[in-house]
Amino acid sequence: MRLSKYFLPTIKENPKEAEIVSHRLMLRAGMIRQASAGIYTWLPLGFKVLKKIENIVRDEQERAGAIEVLMPTIQSADLWKQSGRYEDYGKEMLRITDRHDREMLYGPTNEELITDTFKSGVKSYRDLPCNLFHIQWKFRDEVRPRFGIMRGREFLMKDAYSFDLTVEEGRKSYNKMFVSYLRTFDRLGLKAIPMAADTGPIGGDMSHEFIILAETGESEVYCHRDLIEFDVPGADLDYDSDLEPIIAKWTAPYAATDEEHDAERFAAEVDEKDRLQARGIEVGHIFFFGSKYSKPLNLSVQDATGQQVAIESGSYGVGVSRLVGAIIEASHDDNGIIWPKSVSPFDVGLINLKAGDDATDAACEDLYDRLTKDNIDVLYDDTNDRAGAKFSNMDLIGLPWQLIVGPRGVAAGEVEVKCRATGERETLSVEEAFNKLTSEFR
Ligand code: ATP
Ligand code: MG
Repeated sequence: MRLSKYFLPTIKENPKEAEIVSHRLMLRAGMIRQASAGIYTWLPLGFKVLKKIENIVRDEQERAGAIEVLMPTIQSADLWKQSGRYEDYGKEMLRITDRHDREMLYGPTNEELITDTFKSGVKSYRDLPCNLFHIQWKFRDEVRPRFGIMRGREFLMKDAYSFDLTVEEGRKSYNKMFVSYLRTFDRLGLKAIPMAADTGPIGGDMSHEFIILAETGESEVYCHRDLIEFDVPGADLDYDSDLEPIIAKWTAPYAATDEEHDAERFAAEVDEKDRLQARGIEVGHIFFFGSKYSKPLNLSVQDATGQQVAIESGSYGVGVSRLVGAIIEASHDDNGIIWPKSVSPFDVGLINLKAGDDATDAACEDLYDRLTKDNIDVLYDDTNDRAGAKFSNMDLIGLPWQLIVGPRGVAAGEVEVKCRATGERETLSVEEAFNKLTSEFR
């Protein structure tokens, strides 16, 4: 992409309305624009990141055996009345009346609709287990939308729903999602810690929030330091194998959010030097709720003995749009964003230090062409801006590598390669630079 042909409305000054760094940087880097309170337009650069995150989330859901569907954003109130949540959900639900005076709503979540959808297709216990997910916009009329897309009113969520015959089978489905979340967040360059969360009236131990540590997080969290160092299962993991040992390892050390925190237990179980108290951002939540929805919505199947039994379910959410902000909170410096390779909007930023100079233009065009042909996604700053402005803009938008080409270097057959994360610059021959960058993304 040539910057001269792109839509990248970056901002120099810090926007006053932004309280936290990710919000500031997303506005400054031209990633989002507020359309109204808690509702955002995703500009090209932000949209690319959102899609990359979405794709990684999808990939890891599918790897764990979940199947993608797409439910609508607008739902009828009927099923919600049946489950009792039409009243219970309260003011966070955006209620809409259509022209025939039918009560509709913009979905804040999808337990009712997916339960009803699955019911229409399931014939017997042989159709179980099944896990269906979708990646769809949600609306929650939050009292205090803030921090940009981190707590928006309209936001993108991945939500999966598992269907099993028994609680034991349900636990297996839960474990698959647990492990899939570990892998997902790891691929996004994040250290997410699963923390025991509220299970409500269901009880048990099958509710975990996945938390990123960040000073600007909304919840206070407490955990054992070891959890930050744990290795995540590799891509070769067999999801049909026994996952209990992995779950046991990750749930053994103390980890709890505010609501679940037990100061006495924390002190007793964790040595003082290993105690970590920090702020955290919730990026995912997995929750087993048994027959909470299958019972009121009459989702049952015949088991092997011919008995009709209610299906056991869980729901598994990832805040896809919130993750864009969470990644920035975890990875930035004074100059701007530092994207992990896996979600960066472009791979390489190519800076032409003297647009209009024939030799420099030719060298840039050649590199742009060859890198692009090699499947490297290049943002080529071919504008007439000053070098200083180009440098700070490139640092702001945070692409992992910068390739800097100026007339003096070109005359000597040299270019500069800069690593955004470390700030290190290397002068290399054009060939060396090309090889280095292509090998980085192989
Ligand atoms: P929170 O405690 O942050 O309000 P929640 O418990 O209401 O979250 P869930 O219903 O479990 O969230 O939704 C699944 C995921 O969706 C959350 O883990 C979070 O990452 C994301 N999410 C929830 N509310 C918002 C929001 N208002 N804006 C952006 N993402 C959100
Ligand atoms: Mg909420």
